[in-house]
Amino acid sequence: MQKETIAVHGGYNNKEGWGTMNVPIAQTTAFAFRDAEHAANLFALKELGSIYSRLTNPTTDILEQRFAQLEGGAGALCVASGQAAIFYAIANVAQAGDNVLISDKLYGGAVTLLTHSLKRFGISAKIFKSEDASNLEEQIDENTKAIFFESLSNPQIAVADVEKIVEIAKRNGVLTICDNTVASAWLFNPIKWGVDIVVHSTSKYTNGQGSAIGGVIIERDGLADFFKQNSKRYPHFNEPDESYHGLVYTEVPLPNFTLRARLALLRDFGAAQSPHNSWLLLQTIETLDIRMDKHSNSALEVAKFLETHPKVKSVNYPGLESSVYHEKAQKYFKDGKASGLISFEVEDFDAAKKVIDSAKLFSVVVNIGDSKSLIVHPASTTHSQMNEKELKEAGINPTTIRLSIGLENPIDLVEDLKQALE
Ligand SMILES: *Cc1c(COP(=O)(O)O)cnc(C)c1O
Repeated sequence: MQKETIAVHGGYNNKEGWGTMNVPIAQTTAFAFRDAEHAANLFALKELGSIYSRLTNPTTDILEQRFAQLEGGAGALCVASGQAAIFYAIANVAQAGDNVLISDKLYGGAVTLLTHSLKRFGISAKIFKSEDASNLEEQIDENTKAIFFESLSNPQIAVADVEKIVEIAKRNGVLTICDNTVASAWLFNPIKWGVDIVVHSTSKYTNGQGSAIGGVIIERDGLADFFKQNSKRYPHFNEPDESYHGLVYTEVPLPNFTLRARLALLRDFGAAQSPHNSWLLLQTIETLDIRMDKHSNSALEVAKFLETHPKVKSVNYPGLESSVYHEKAQKYFKDGKASGLISFEVEDFDAAKKVIDSAKLFSVVVNIGDSKSLIVHPASTTHSQMNEKELKEAGINPTTIRLSIGLENPIDLVEDLKQALE
């Protein structure tokens, strides 16, 4: 099936079960068993079905199936946020004493999670250059459990060398995890390029309207074989899980990675997605393709305008021919479309602040992927407590402005930026 069709129908057949045109919300905490045997079968995985909404929920299940199909994966698990998706994806393979290799260009929340919070759990992070993976292989050791990177990074808007990262990972038998939030399941499918695990913050483009926080983990087909072949690196997928009456994940004919993340991590850490948010995401994912094309086309138009403006010193947008990422965007992303994020540089701090204060259509918001266009000047907003030296150390340029292009007519967006730059 084509992705536009999956986005509307995936995981739900209205000729069966509920029969409703719109997917219903199973707004419930728990589910009634038919009898004692039914309950026992569900707990023993002899029969699949819902027990308690922390573990499974029929509305969320439809979204999971839809996501797995959209990304070309074998299975998916929805969780309460993008941060929870990243945490579970890492915690599913790494434990105290292990390390993960992480890209030098990541979302700020991912950086603090991976370099600070996980350190307290005994999991360390080593940083590699995702643009060319030049220092990746030399940092892999026997305790390396995952390579984590973003396909199109937020906020740097850099495109990873996916092919090279995957090649090195496969040669060394290390799991790859790609955060595909900014590119979205419409513009890019990491699994088709050999990536093992995809995560999304569905709060961004999947939702597209800034109305719900959510996250998802998707796994490729055939991971049981990968875990068996690399059983020394991934023993806990091959040995009995004492916390689940001796279950050996690789012996279960279900997608192994999300099964373990559900049965062990969601059970114990509990960042379950609310059925209502699953339902909201099922509404918005129907239009993902149309929205991503529009975000991308409008962003290219705005980026081209900015590039010609005398007060703009430089523009970073992978869709521009002048971008260092242009070639990779053409190679990896559907029709070379590069999503809705742009950053640009103006003369100095005051000029940047003036643009922020003068923009009328753009909301000053630290989010991305909304239907409304957003603008942020990190140096005068999120990082305004820092002095110039501290800003520099944090990699924040006082002249950088970031845009998330929404679904407005780009003529109006260009007009607004034009007057703000005057
Ligand atoms: C926002 C974001 C996250 C975190 O997602 P939340 O849903 O806010 O928890 C992770 N990765 C990327 C690339 C993001 O943009």
